[in-house]
Amino acid sequence: MTRTVPTADTSSTPPAGSPRDSRRLVVISVDAMSVVDVPFARTLPNFSRVLAGSWGSAEAIYPTVTYPNHTSQTTARTAAGHGIYANELVQPGSRRPDWFWDARAIAAPTIFDLAAAQGLTSATVGWPVTGWSPSIDIAVPEIWDPAGLEATLAVLRDAASERGRAYVDAHAAEIGWDSKHRFGQFNTAVAVDMIRTDAPDVLFVHLVDVDSARHTTGRFTPEVREAFERVDGWIGEILDALEESGVAEDANVAIVSDHGHVEVGRCLRANNLLVQEGLVRLDDSGEVASWDAWVHGCGLTGQLHLNPEAEESAQDRVLDLVDRWVADPEIPIAAFHPLADMREDYGYSGPFLGVLEGTSGTNFQNLWEGRSLYGRFDDDYTFLLSQHGHLPEQDIQAVFAMVGPDIVEGGKFSRCTVPDEAATFAHLLGLQFPEADGAAVSEILREPALSLAR
Ligand SMILES: [Zn+2]
Repeated sequence: MTRTVPTADTSSTPPAGSPRDSRRLVVISVDAMSVVDVPFARTLPNFSRVLAGSWGSAEAIYPTVTYPNHTSQTTARTAAGHGIYANELVQPGSRRPDWFWDARAIAAPTIFDLAAAQGLTSATVGWPVTGWSPSIDIAVPEIWDPAGLEATLAVLRDAASERGRAYVDAHAAEIGWDSKHRFGQFNTAVAVDMIRTDAPDVLFVHLVDVDSARHTTGRFTPEVREAFERVDGWIGEILDALEESGVAEDANVAIVSDHGHVEVGRCLRANNLLVQEGLVRLDDSGEVASWDAWVHGCGLTGQLHLNPEAEESAQDRVLDLVDRWVADPEIPIAAFHPLADMREDYGYSGPFLGVLEGTSGTNFQNLWEGRSLYGRFDDDYTFLLSQHGHLPEQDIQAVFAMVGPDIVEGGKFSRCTVPDEAATFAHLLGLQFPEADGAAVSEILREPALSLAR
């Protein structure tokens, strides 16, 4: 059974004569694909279609987690510029904080804003931080409610654009739900239907299966291989839809990713340590009653927050405590990086004192109950086996690949950054960001962008 969305009212079709109006852009994010996965991906029938163009290594922004990096891919800014400084909102005392689902939290113009201003139509499927977007014509965002499928569908419909809602309704049956949401098949079906029905000029799609498999089974397991094979089939469906719709010759297609993975050796509940120090206080039922300091887990690092309403002496107390943590070999915190250093070194900023870096493979959890430390050999270790959120220069890097009429065939480059990808996309569409922390990757362009040389 294949349901599709009825053709749209075409009265909103953009006027002819918009810049590069014969060019389309399709960006497929294979979450957590790394550059060392490329030799295997080239053996798969559809990854190889994109990798036949140009590819290379892409350094993520800090934090090396999904939402900040996907926002760099649409803004060409680091987190200090676009404001999405973590996956999750900071909600001390919440076991499942909301994520940065709302596009209105992005502090910089997105490629969708620029596209709309030039009369180009844009669509997104499962792309992070696109809920309630003011500028995406057809947005089916990534958003869920841990309460279940029905609640997820309700919030997904609410966060989608009006035209996106029709796609949610047509394909809702393809959302998978076991212990949590599974959007891969749904996102692919929606993207294929969008290409056939609305043919947007700009389409961004996010596929998460490889990342999910790595988190739960490890970096290079049979399950990760199966996830790659599944994602390869989905990429094939999208590429075939472009061909069958007669637009493949005009479409530059990218595969991007957002971070690598590091094997987890232990989980640290730094907020449990803050409870022991009296800097987080619990009520009789063990819930957080009040807090002076809070560590917001960001995978393999954590942001150190100070409650703006805490007494003046709290900051010194907290910073002194952190110094002791770094000095104590029993606490797996390698370093504390003050915010000013993070801004200087990584273009990172946010409402906190700085960043705690774990020793390699230390995963920060927000939780405060139980013990402060859970090691992989502990009988009650039931957590992630692989994680990211480390500093960007560490470990294996993300990948950036493109193929299409404006892209060199058989090209390779050694290193770009994730904000460079967004600048490349803008260049290919004849758009320009007013401010950017990246530049177009000129090595992959058939007509080098002389004025944009990196
Ligand atoms: Zn990710």
